[in-house]
Amino acid sequence: MKFTLAKVSFRDSPIEGRGVFALRRFEPGDTVVAYAPKQRRVDVWSEESRLATQTKLSLLSDDGNVIIPDTSVPGGWLCNHSCYPIATLHSKGQGRIECVRTIAPQQEVTIFYGWVTRNQPERDACRCGAPNCRGYINFDVSDQEAHSAEADTPEGERFRKKLTDYFEFLRRIGQEQAKGNVTQLLNQMRTRLVLP
Ligand SMILES: [Zn+2]
Repeated sequence: MKFTLAKVSFRDSPIEGRGVFALRRFEPGDTVVAYAPKQRRVDVWSEESRLATQTKLSLLSDDGNVIIPDTSVPGGWLCNHSCYPIATLHSKGQGRIECVRTIAPQQEVTIFYGWVTRNQPERDACRCGAPNCRGYINFDVSDQEAHSAEADTPEGERFRKKLTDYFEFLRRIGQEQAKGNVTQLLNQMRTRLVLP
């Protein structure tokens, strides 16, 4: 007789591809599943790390390494995105998925990706089905927007409103950690755009 301690299963999802599903109840603060039970860790500045970014599965750990999941072993890296997620991805150490709202057995475990794109507003269509769905997974910043971010113009005002609205959205769904991705890209863009 085989006993299983599995807390989640990995199977086809109505959102996209394979997803992660709870096999028992989870309460806020519970660890649901490891991000990548089998993984490689590479230096953030390595060529391997740069290539891994394109798979969208790599995760920057708080220790400065990049975690690359071994996709032959399922894990939290299979979690789908939702605009109203019930879990969150923590990048500390090996990376893990933590429950933020009570998860019932059989419920799909979703996280918020927090992807930020540049000049590609419609890159990642979202099919999460949440009533508050943004329509896209990614938050986009155009060069024009970055350029006028602090300008006292209608464009600047419009962009600041867009930013404030997004941050307010993140606050409401308990994913304020995703703000960092936006400010990081914005700072990078502005550094390049500012003329000497
Ligand atoms: Zn959505």
